[in-house]
Amino acid sequence: MIALVTGASRGIGRAIAERLAADYGAKLMLTYRSRAEDAEAAAAACVEAGGEAAVHQADVSTPDGAAGAVAACIERFEGLDVVVNNAGVTADKLALMMEDDDWHRVLRTNLDGTFYTARAAAKHMLRKRHGRIINLSSISAKRPNKGQANYAASKGGVEAFTRALAVELAPKKITVNAVAPGIIETEMSQRIRDAADKELKKAIPMRRYGQPADIAGIVAFLAGPDAAYITGQIIGVDGGLGA
Ligand code: NDP
Repeated sequence: MIALVTGASRGIGRAIAERLAADYGAKLMLTYRSRAEDAEAAAAACVEAGGEAAVHQADVSTPDGAAGAVAACIERFEGLDVVVNNAGVTADKLALMMEDDDWHRVLRTNLDGTFYTARAAAKHMLRKRHGRIINLSSISAKRPNKGQANYAASKGGVEAFTRALAVELAPKKITVNAVAPGIIETEMSQRIRDAADKELKKAIPMRRYGQPADIAGIVAFLAGPDAAYITGQIIGVDGGLGA
């Protein structure tokens, strides 16, 4: 298995890359935006887990950055079977106070970046008549917190895009699915966990936050042979928060 995982320098992306290495001995291209050292550490962990790994700096919110990441994977490992569109950002602010830049930055990274990367990857997968595209959505698409109009809109867009692309690519044997995490213990969720730890845990039926490994498991399943007939699905992994 040859896989590209965007935003794999830390958090959920790193856990996904490590799991693909452990389960499939995958050859992995790990992208990051700014933290080169973290990306190198993630790559070393993938090798330790049984895979091969290389890193590539890319801003996936631009068409050239996303296409460059796909090209780097194909050049390095001579193929691409799985792409995980994991890179994402937040810029929380109440909608009426939100600056245009906060809106566009989140939409560009989370939604445009997913489209640009999937488009570039699918062009390669079409020729092979095989591929798996796995997008990271969020519980926020259907249960947004206050201050997340931009983030919720971006993830709602990711879910609609997932279904639309799945329909187009199904005849070519390429599946497209999304995973919608609840609150997972990473840097991204640190601020909201610090601000409302008790209330958040009370709202989650399982009474605990998720771990990056909870997301990595379902992504590894969707990338594997048992998921060949699953496409256009949004799978919640949220301890019951989205039930
Ligand atoms: P983190 O903030 O921990 O990590 C984000 C990753 O994305 C980093 O690797 C970062 O690179 C990379 N990144 C950010 N912007 C860009 C960009 N423009 N181009 C390329 N890479 C970029 O996030 P999480 O691991 O928590 O989240 C991963 C995904 O899961 C996201 O899509 C997020 O929306 C989603 N999610 C997370 C939840 C949570 O509770 N944590 C809940 C629901 C969904 P660098 O390190 O170089 O900055």
